Amino acid sequence: MARYKDEQCRICRREGQKLFLKGSRCFSDKCSVSRRNYAPGQHGQKKAKLSEYGTQLREKQKTKAFYGVGERQFRKYFEMASNKKGITGENLLQILESRLDNVVYKLGYGSSRAQARQLVNHGLFDVNGKKVDIVSYLVKPGDVVSVRENKKDAEIIKQNVEANAARPVPAWLEKDAENLSGKVVRLATREEVDLAVEEHLIVELYSK
Ligand code: SF4
Repeated sequence: MARYKDEQCRICRREGQKLFLKGSRCFSDKCSVSRRNYAPGQHGQKKAKLSEYGTQLREKQKTKAFYGVGERQFRKYFEMASNKKGITGENLLQILESRLDNVVYKLGYGSSRAQARQLVNHGLFDVNGKKVDIVSYLVKPGDVVSVRENKKDAEIIKQNVEANAARPVPAWLEKDAENLSGKVVRLATREEVDLAVEEHLIVELYSK
């Protein structure tokens, strides 16, 4: 059981960086990356040199874990990103940032992306006044994401609002804490993505 509970931290340790998979623990000194910043397992402290393919793969796996997206969906996002104007890698990150579960997390109504996903799944949120329980829903500028009227008193929402009150909200979102909502002012820029990733390596991997 203990091993299972640590599974997400093992992913971070393998990647050598905080991927914020566990909510408040990630912001505390209990974070496993802060305490033991080397890969898990017997040989974790020996840094193995990765091949070009291995490095590209790691960047992809890390990004998938960060956003909690499976391979099929991730590939679909890559194709959407390739068909958009601009730099494919940056488009890919922008699409991932636009997912409803990510927006709920960024607004502080979910303590982690995984929990935000669960809350959206359970129908706690509206987009533009209509219930949306599809975690992969992609928000657009002007959209308003809010806790549904009949869920505003839910204990989990109250806890998250209190626990995440001080967590900074990115400038592409405008939080209205009083009304438990937030407006998408514009889409996220590359600089606003708080994942240390070399997204061009993911593009190279998929372009093989
Ligand atoms: Fe665990 Fe969160 Fe730290 Fe990752 S960032 S190691 S999930 S506590």
